[in-house]
Amino acid sequence: MTATVELTTRTAAAGQLISGAKADWEVIIGMEAHAQVASQAKLFSGASTAFGGAPNSHVSLVDAAMPGMLPVINRACVAQAVRTGLGLNARINLKSRFDRKNYFYPDLPQGYQISQYQEPIVGEGEVRVEPDEGDPFVVGIERLHLEQDAGKSIHDQDPRFSLVDLNRSGVALMEIVTRPDIRSADEAKAFLVKLRTILRYLGTCDGDMEKGSLRADINVSVREPGATLGTRCEIKNVNSIRFIGQAVAHEARRQIAVIEDGGTIEQETRLFDPQRGETRSMRSKEEAHDYRYFPDPDLLPLVIDEAFVDGLRGDLPELPDAKKARFVADYGLPDHDAAVLVAERDLAGYFEAAAAGREPRLAANWVINELGGRLNRDGLTIAESPVSAERLAGVLDLVAAGTISGKMAKDLFEIVWTEDGDPAEIAASRGMQQVTDTGEIDALVDQVIADNPDKAAEAREKPQLVGWFVGQVMKASQGKANPKAVNEALRAKLGL
Ligand code: MN
Repeated sequence: MTATVELTTRTAAAGQLISGAKADWEVIIGMEAHAQVASQAKLFSGASTAFGGAPNSHVSLVDAAMPGMLPVINRACVAQAVRTGLGLNARINLKSRFDRKNYFYPDLPQGYQISQYQEPIVGEGEVRVEPDEGDPFVVGIERLHLEQDAGKSIHDQDPRFSLVDLNRSGVALMEIVTRPDIRSADEAKAFLVKLRTILRYLGTCDGDMEKGSLRADINVSVREPGATLGTRCEIKNVNSIRFIGQAVAHEARRQIAVIEDGGTIEQETRLFDPQRGETRSMRSKEEAHDYRYFPDPDLLPLVIDEAFVDGLRGDLPELPDAKKARFVADYGLPDHDAAVLVAERDLAGYFEAAAAGREPRLAANWVINELGGRLNRDGLTIAESPVSAERLAGVLDLVAAGTISGKMAKDLFEIVWTEDGDPAEIAASRGMQQVTDTGEIDALVDQVIADNPDKAAEAREKPQLVGWFVGQVMKASQGKANPKAVNEALRAKLGL
């Protein structure tokens, strides 16, 4: 037990403690994320990994565990695991080994899962998390190993039988195991969001939780701050960020209630029920499987060389932390804006295309607020945006040149969104042009002053009234006058 205690030196911030009836409690969380490897073929067979095929249409003889079939390792899956390890700042093990994890289940035709037990392909690493709220924190990665996914039992399509779909059987998974470094439900959510971002940048997992490409087992225990670790329970297969938060919050409260009532926590596996928002016991330690791991005799140890790893390292994309630092340093963006933009690789790319040669803060503001808000409203991703980065840049150029006002830019953006087309052409054809001609503005200003002699006299005493005049002139120009030019003309004519 002492070995695990030394891993958990980080104490929760005061605001992260949970008040029970008798004491304040600290939640200790570790995660095991299962990430489906982005690859064409399965880990040990050439069958397709495509999602949504007809049941049992992507099953090779190996996946169906026909007698005499032999697994052959998929080099692309190995490369993806190594790339992921590099992205997690982790040690790459040049020699690793596949073991058989034995258990009997209808959706596991082999009767065992090929996994990595004592010698995983990736060792210790770390992930830095900067949540929207709260302090940044680092989550230690204990290991990443490759293993096969199982098939799926279907219980609701036949009145008498359970059916089995083996399409997923043998698909490559990366199991990513963290140290117990997470201290709250919010941190658990923020960690998985960050992990998903890294995987997506790397292109090693699509991170699509709805399709089951990424799911988390969450180990939760509670203790009084500074005390030794409590007994943990494992919540299996949580498949959305929101559910992760709910599952942790509920499980922590449950454990606190048990302990404060004088009970003890039994180590067990639990399920999260999203409908009821609670965790339920699935099996206790006594019912835990004995997997009888042993090295798979059909597979040689997996040996890769430095050159293979270096080649992959050289091809890594810029990762979110580095990109964020660059956005702050090179574009002068506020920390928060940079964080929002790098959360998705496509969004960051869009921003850079729109910002090239322009005022970066203005571009960031437009991408985050106008574009981001509009995408949200229509439930679209950045890749589905009807306004390309080039088109948005066209709008920004018209603003920068003083051709259109900020207000007009928003109207123009909406037109480009719904109708597409070149922003400059649209602005020209619809007469969206701000009036900067001083002769025209002077005439409007004279008119408004002449129509409001009392106010004008008042404004000479109280210069802040100039705002009211600006409003009147803007209205008279039907919103087309350049507000800055109007302000200047008014001040000159009112003698302010
Ligand atoms: Mn696993």
